[in-house]
Amino acid sequence: MDTSSSPADSSAADSPTDSNPLLVTSGLPPWDRIEPEHVIPGVRLMLQKAESILEEAERDDAVDWDRIMDPLDRISLLFEYGWNPVEHLLSVMNSSELREAHETVLPDIVRFSLRMGQSRPLYRRLCALRDSDRWDRLGECRRRIATRMIQDAELSGIGLEGEDLRQFNENQERLSRLATAFSNHVLDSTKAFHLDITDPADADGLPESFRRMAAAAWNQDPQNADQKASVESGPWRVTLEAPSFGPFMEHCRRRDLREQVYRAWIRRASEGDTNNEPLIAEILELRHSQAHLLGFRNWAEVSLARKMAGSVERVETMFEELLQASRDRGRAELKEIAQYAADHGQNEPLAHWDVAFWAERLREERFAFTDEQLRPYFSLDRVLEGLFRICRLLFGITVRRADQEAPRWHEDVRFYQVHDENGTLIASFYLDPYSRPENKRGGAWMNDCIARSVTARETRLPVAHLVCNGTPPVGRVPSLMTFREVETLFHEFGHGLQHMLTVIDEREASGISGVEWDAVELPSQFMENWCYHRPTLLSMAVHYETGERLPDELFERLCAARTWRAGSAMLRQLLFGMTDMHLHARFDPRNRESAFEVFQRIAEDVSPMPPLPENRFLCSFQHIFAGGYAAGYYSYKWAEVLSADAFAAFEEAGLDNEEALAATGRRFRDTILAQGGSRHPMDIFRDFRGREPRVDALLRHSGLIEPATEQQRQNDPAGR
Ligand SMILES: [Zn+2]
Repeated sequence: MDTSSSPADSSAADSPTDSNPLLVTSGLPPWDRIEPEHVIPGVRLMLQKAESILEEAERDDAVDWDRIMDPLDRISLLFEYGWNPVEHLLSVMNSSELREAHETVLPDIVRFSLRMGQSRPLYRRLCALRDSDRWDRLGECRRRIATRMIQDAELSGIGLEGEDLRQFNENQERLSRLATAFSNHVLDSTKAFHLDITDPADADGLPESFRRMAAAAWNQDPQNADQKASVESGPWRVTLEAPSFGPFMEHCRRRDLREQVYRAWIRRASEGDTNNEPLIAEILELRHSQAHLLGFRNWAEVSLARKMAGSVERVETMFEELLQASRDRGRAELKEIAQYAADHGQNEPLAHWDVAFWAERLREERFAFTDEQLRPYFSLDRVLEGLFRICRLLFGITVRRADQEAPRWHEDVRFYQVHDENGTLIASFYLDPYSRPENKRGGAWMNDCIARSVTARETRLPVAHLVCNGTPPVGRVPSLMTFREVETLFHEFGHGLQHMLTVIDEREASGISGVEWDAVELPSQFMENWCYHRPTLLSMAVHYETGERLPDELFERLCAARTWRAGSAMLRQLLFGMTDMHLHARFDPRNRESAFEVFQRIAEDVSPMPPLPENRFLCSFQHIFAGGYAAGYYSYKWAEVLSADAFAAFEEAGLDNEEALAATGRRFRDTILAQGGSRHPMDIFRDFRGREPRVDALLRHSGLIEPATEQQRQNDPAGR
């Protein structure tokens, strides 16, 4: 069934652009027909329709759920078919024509979305609904949707008038300009530095993959046109881009060169005309005044108003518990590295630029394995079989390939259908598995294609996009994955499961929609654990040529690698998270203490090796100054706590006991996967786990506490 019965749609039915594939609103998007030339006319017409629906809705004054939400639902549907596919294709089938068309219509899309989010008539009606006696009868899910819409509107300044509103908008604009400048400074100062290695003796120890990248970096510079670098003999260019900086610090044997590169790294965006120091002060001050205008005490409260953690205190309690458990371990790890360095010929005391280098030597000696060693054991189809098998056991779902059922954007793309225990079709997904450097963005991700929604008019089943960047098969060699890629596939499939196994009828709360930001990584990180589940891993890790199973010894090394330097890694994340929270929760313009002093002070307490006084890491901390992580960096750890604790429920049930796993899996499906954004994530978590989340499982999985200690901590309430 389609929605052409609505007045706004019927007006376009006669239009010649009706054949535009971006204007269908039922079934699967016609991927095989969408061309760049459809984008401009299709999106414009879609926006026209959306605009007239919105105007109609704004003229209405009924304080009634259906009358308010039905037009919004129709607008979402238009976007689902008319805009989301454009964004998707931009990532997986990029071309200059598509990019140009996208850029042309993007400002109109942004303008419309802003206008809809800040519509005063809609806001007033939602508030009237909240204050009416109908509110209590709406049910939890609808109340949550409406509350969130009201809150989003308010956080965008809709409740402000007069001078306050003018000030708010001015600050907002200034903040977005500062964020862009902040990023540009990081980018420019990163680019401004390089170190050229011309003597092959200095490249001793640098791995082949690094040399290839570094030779290419040298060759890219037009000034080097008359001296082409070769992978074997250089010259090699070291840069401050992460893929260059990281391996260089781990492998370069020349200590003085490591120091030089390290010092450049910690000074990024802190000098000259790319200095972010004044921007940091201004950003913090502006956020603080935005918080005040919105009626909050500080920016941390604004951020947490929409998150699962809910309060600064709760986040700080988590920090404290994690810190207590990892501080000593972090120090011990550093001591071990220092000892190893001393035993292997370093006479000077261990400095910042030595840690990664010696840690890597120790790791290699202890349990190194290379991606190439593992790759032959992980062929895509076997891995998918293993993934689908564990999902069937846990959640009772069956996944079947059904390419012929769906239009696709590329011949490598696969289409799968998901059935429940009764054989009922409940969802489907696309898998775009291989890298296509010419037109596909790198990385892996899950996105929604169609959201589940059930209205009086129709029922729509959820459809997900799973995009990976694996190696394509060559001849008789199948697509082989690194272990990291296997983990990533499980991770993204976890997001996909929450999108597909939802039972919520309201589009705004079905699947991952409406899930609090700090809870959204729960199902994905949870699924990663199954890569270390012995039966699951051994069932899918089969050598593609010899049919041999993954040797036990390699499996053990994989597990050991998971907890390698876990204390140091934890402390590093805590330093970032605690600094972020402190700057946004305790900021006071009259403070004598600068942001850098805050960072340094927290580091003295947290880090096994506190930063150098000249460290200007904050100047390149884009997550919180140019991204969406302000007073939200803690979310990484928060989600890890949730996912580890959720997995612990399966460990307690018995990882070798299929019956117990199935029972726990169904509970996970019925709560966390099925209910998504329809209820507060803490309530859903409590329903699954029988209590609030605890940090113990994460600490145990990271090797930071012994299983026995965890038992004690659980029995001793004071230990929490
Ligand atoms: Zn994720």
